[in-house]
Amino acid sequence: LAARLQGFGTTVFAEMSALAVATGSVNLGQGFPDTPGPAEVLDVARAAIGTPLDQYPPGPGLPVLREAVSAHVQRFRGLAYDADTEVLVTAGATEALAGAMLGLLDPGDEVVVLEPLYDSYAAGVAMAGGVVVPVPLRPPPAPPGEVSTAPWTLDPAELRAAITPRTKLVLLNTPHNPTGKVLDRAELELVADVVREHDLLAVTDEVYEHLVFAGAEHVSLAQLPGMRERTLVVGSGGKTFSTTGWKVGWVCGPAELVACVRTAKQFLTYVNAGPFQPAVAAGLGLPDAYFAGIAAELEGKRDRLVTGLAAAGLPVVSPQATYFATVRVDGDALAFCRELPHRVGVVAVPSSVFYTPQHADLGRDLVRFAFCKRDEVLDEAVRRLTA
Ligand code: PMP
Ligand code: GLN
Repeated sequence: LAARLQGFGTTVFAEMSALAVATGSVNLGQGFPDTPGPAEVLDVARAAIGTPLDQYPPGPGLPVLREAVSAHVQRFRGLAYDADTEVLVTAGATEALAGAMLGLLDPGDEVVVLEPLYDSYAAGVAMAGGVVVPVPLRPPPAPPGEVSTAPWTLDPAELRAAITPRTKLVLLNTPHNPTGKVLDRAELELVADVVREHDLLAVTDEVYEHLVFAGAEHVSLAQLPGMRERTLVVGSGGKTFSTTGWKVGWVCGPAELVACVRTAKQFLTYVNAGPFQPAVAAGLGLPDAYFAGIAAELEGKRDRLVTGLAAAGLPVVSPQATYFATVRVDGDALAFCRELPHRVGVVAVPSSVFYTPQHADLGRDLVRFAFCKRDEVLDEAVRRLTA
């Protein structure tokens, strides 16, 4: 294995999903829904297969999808992006993020990232020769058997202290995986201040933008004054349309920055997901009620799972958004998650793997459970955990 990929053996998602299959466990590990997406989206994909849409789409993505991405970001964030020059379709958010790192970083450039950090960030930065500088989010206290609804916190001093003369960009993720935190206005203003003051770039991963629960509101960093021109906004159809296997993502930003990602993308995948692109375009055009509906449905699942986990005696932090709830366990989270399928037949993901070695202590006992599953699956998991 190349030096730059040392330590990136197998992703925890692959390990835990394989363990779920091998042990016949209820899989609350990898975040993917177990019900199909909306018929309006699926039908378009079905109709596209067997047509010329099966062949290479244009490099930047099909115009119908780029226009739909542009209209969607205008509708929900009030931001205007030119569909031809300021929108790029990618193979999921994963490629958008890796492409942004490859297109923007020089060796040794530092990337400030909230920690815990989604696992592809560290690998994406490393493949580009960059260096991750983590800024920890801290969980609220959660007594055993209780559900905490307080948000995870970000210390402004720690964010400011992370900036050095080598800092190139801030890689933000809100709503945040694995914590489920939604950055509030004050936190976004803080990030924006730091980015502007130090003349940095920002990349913001907003794949959970529509999975936000009552009491929280998603705002894009690009909506803050002076930020649109220095920010790449990354999105994906995977979560919003329950089609995580389609890998249709996108990036919006000023033309010069999008061009950097496009240069990298050309030689990573060139193009992707021909027949799925018009389907995701149809999804992005669904009425507001669709987007509100998926959040409301998921909120019920969140409550079902966190109540169940607390009843099983675990200290639970209820998320403001996303697919994921966090619990604190006795001892090491990775060992706990490797044993849990054998002990009770449930798979979860150790949030400890989303921490850098220097902050291993902060995450060593944190475990993430996904609730994007049918109610009976959640109930069965809770039954097994309680037994
Ligand atoms: N970013 C975050 C925070 C995620 O949780 C995920 C995957 N669930 C991705 C990016 C990857 O998205 P995609 O499947 O569109 O590549
Ligand atoms: N993003 C999903 C999660 O966090 C799954 C990602 C993956 O399997 N790479 O669980």
